[in-house]
Amino acid sequence: MANSKIEWTESTWNPVTGCTKISLGCKNCYAERMAKRLKKMGQPNYANGFRITLHENVLEYPLHWKKPKTIFVNSMSDLFHEQIPDSFIFKIFDIMKQAHWHQFQILTKRSIRLKKIAPKIDWPKNVWLGVSVENESVKFRIDDLRRVHAAIRFISFEPLLGPFASLDFDNIDWVIVGGESGPRARPMKKEWVIQIKEQCIVQNVPFFFKQWGGINKKETGRLLDGRTWDEMPTKLINLGKEIEHKKVPHLTDEQNDDFRTSKVAI
Ligand code: SF4
Repeated sequence: MANSKIEWTESTWNPVTGCTKISLGCKNCYAERMAKRLKKMGQPNYANGFRITLHENVLEYPLHWKKPKTIFVNSMSDLFHEQIPDSFIFKIFDIMKQAHWHQFQILTKRSIRLKKIAPKIDWPKNVWLGVSVENESVKFRIDDLRRVHAAIRFISFEPLLGPFASLDFDNIDWVIVGGESGPRARPMKKEWVIQIKEQCIVQNVPFFFKQWGGINKKETGRLLDGRTWDEMPTKLINLGKEIEHKKVPHLTDEQNDDFRTSKVAI
């Protein structure tokens, strides 16, 4: 498990690494940059660089992480990439179901494959599913997402590359917005961010503003109109209350307390 610097998660788990570009949002892919760097450093999981690679050996890792975590699945790939066999995707879902004390977050741009495979999956309650939507041309991903029976459905508008005048958040539980960061970051206009935030307020959907981005994201920060926006899915509170009554067998009483509190407090 690697601790993550991503503002909306805690850890990452990469049973698959590598990907190929599918839309404009991929242009300056962070995972590609990292994979190339890790290959040069001799990291064995990245011997193939950014080519799709399945890692059977890490599949069971979450079962050994005893402390409950929020885990971003495949931060270095796209779980619904066409080169990942159905059977491997099912194995990943099976592990997530067994590791019920964690919350797993999946984010994809491959909503067309997601739509096809989703009915074959028994969606565990601890799995959140999101789509990345960078501009109007890929807005159809939101429609694909809302049809999937995931416990929590979310949209990541990152890197936000254009305006969204009219969004329908029916069946959507959470919205994240962020600007691109890194050496070739493309600009994000404040009015685009406000436009999405206002639609979240009107439609009563939690809004999380991740960052302005740019070449130096520490400098630009994550304040929007003088404050941070860190809202989380309200459904999670109910989910936490359900879990509250369950004791995770391998945890001590103290760890079970931590677990309950973290879920209810979010
Ligand atoms: S889908 Fe994600 S991981 Fe794959 S190339 Fe695009 S940005 Fe990178």
